Order: sequence, then structure tokens, then C-alpha cells
Amino acid sequence: MKTCFNHPDQEALSKCHGCGNEYCESCLDEGIEYYYCKNSECQALLKKELPEYAVPESVICPNCNIELDLSEDERRVGKFRCSECDAVIDYTVSPPKIIEDTNYTEILSSLNQGDIALIKSILEDEDIDYVIYGENFLGIRPLLEPARILVNTDQVEEAKNILKDFDLNIFGVSANQDD
Ligand SMILES: [Zn+2]
Ligand SMILES: [Zn+2]
Ligand SMILES: [Zn+2]
Repeated sequence: MKTCFNHPDQEALSKCHGCGNEYCESCLDEGIEYYYCKNSECQALLKKELPEYAVPESVICPNCNIELDLSEDERRVGKFRCSECDAVIDYTVSPPKIIEDTNYTEILSSLNQGDIALIKSILEDEDIDYVIYGENFLGIRPLLEPARILVNTDQVEEAKNILKDFDLNIFGVSANQDD
């Protein structure tokens, strides 16, 4: 029998797709197609194979207890608005918490999904805390309402400055919500 590279007394389950060594079950992590061992280089490959989602496909809204199906973008960001009760939920923390609307300021809205995807990637690169309302890429409902992008109020100026460089003609929707 083939034995584990780390445990000579254990039967090997599979090869690591990264380094090619044989390992036992406890030494392997399962990807979508392949197994990977615990070496950092092989773990990096595993990470690439697995989509990085912050939250599962469907979650329970902590506010109204309805089950929500999330889009891939919502899952990756982990923050979204409940379509039933309109609460904004942060699922990246445990337990999930309901975000106060007042912590976020709308910086733009757009019907253009290409714009939205670009803006999201920019905000993510710059570590801007943001949420998106009205976005629905699941195809159940067409995108009739513009998606609105809100950023953490503390980071509004920063976000605007970053996005300015990208020459997107998108500001002014409700950037001045004075109270
Ligand atoms: Zn390996
Ligand atoms: Zn082992
Ligand atoms: Zn809800």
C-alpha cells in the first residue's frame, strides 16, 4: 500500500495536487477537483481552486428570519440588504449583525453592471467598507432599479477620491445627504 508522506504507518488516501506526495486523509484538504496537503504552497493552490465566498449560498436574515438566496457578489462581500425587511446585514461577523443604515452613505448608483463590477473591484482593492443595494444578478428579477453603492461614512471622501481617478461619470446621485 502507498503510505502517507508524513505518517509512514498510515495508508495514503491520495496525492497532493500541488507537490505530488501521497498523504493520508488527515493530511489532506479537499478542493473542488483535487486534494491538497498542508504545505503553504499547496494550500495556496487550494485557495485558488476554491471560490472565496464570505457567506453561504443562502442565509437566514437575522432581522426577519426569512431565508435569502444570495448572488455570488453578495456572498463574496458578505454584506447585503435583505429583500424582505430591507435591513442591511453584515454576515462576515459571527453572529451576523444588522448594520445601521446611517453608517453608510450612498456614493453612486448605476444600472450598468460593468460599472458596478469595476467599482466593486476598486473598492475592494482599497479596503473600502461598502454595501450594495438593489443588485440582483441571480436573474430571478431583472435589474430594473439601479444598484446603489454605499460606503462606510468614514470612508466616503477616500472612496470618492479613489474613484475620481477612474474617470467614471457616476457621482451626484445622492452624495449630499445632509442632515
Ligand atoms: Zn502538497
Ligand atoms: Zn498523514
Ligand atoms: Zn430581513
